[in-house]
Amino acid sequence: MLDAEFFRRWMTATAASVDREAERLTALDSPIGDADHGSNLQRGFKAVIAALEKEAPQTPGAVLTLSGRQLISTVGGASGPLYGTLLRRTGKALGDAAEVDEAQLAEALRAGVDAVMTLGGAAPGDKTMIDALVPAVDALGDGFPAARTAAEQGALATTPLQARKGRASYLGERSVGHQDPGATSSALLIAGLAEAAGE
Ligand code: ADP
Ligand code: MG
Repeated sequence: MLDAEFFRRWMTATAASVDREAERLTALDSPIGDADHGSNLQRGFKAVIAALEKEAPQTPGAVLTLSGRQLISTVGGASGPLYGTLLRRTGKALGDAAEVDEAQLAEALRAGVDAVMTLGGAAPGDKTMIDALVPAVDALGDGFPAARTAAEQGALATTPLQARKGRASYLGERSVGHQDPGATSSALLIAGLAEAAGE
């Protein structure tokens, strides 16, 4: 079973990898964006960790809704509201249970990803974070490491795509040949799950 401590470890692991990879995320956001994705998320996850320490939420759902709220209020850009919605909606779906199992998490995360698609209007293949998140949720039934691999492959597979959503879409065909920064950070988020599980 996964308790609030597991979800705290998930956020902590993601904050650390976002910190480590911030320059790379910003570099990916340079040719097809405005070179702020790494710094945006770095700021956001710092705020997440500070809020988790201060408020010490006691359930999985509360950890995620608090984290999502922090991302919405601190990240800015397109990715702040989208990641914030992902975590808030996932947290809401987990309700106020003290512990959840992996199947409940997979179902909740599916609701979160659906909410991101509704908010941003992106579908798989549009060269966004959705291209890492949907395969990850699809693979979650096979365990956290399978979800991590699926997210990483999904992020890599954005390179040949033409962007149809977000800032990169303004470039039209010139967006082809670059890996999407948001799909890359989504792979870090999913990798954080496996790390939290010690897998
Ligand atoms: P901004 O584009 O406002 O500078 P960021 O650089 O932080 O925001 O994030 C860019 C990332 O956000 C993109 O790489 C893409 O993955 C994601 N993104 C942008 N628009 C959308 C959308 N409508 N739906 C899903 N993801 C999106
Ligand atoms: Mg940007």
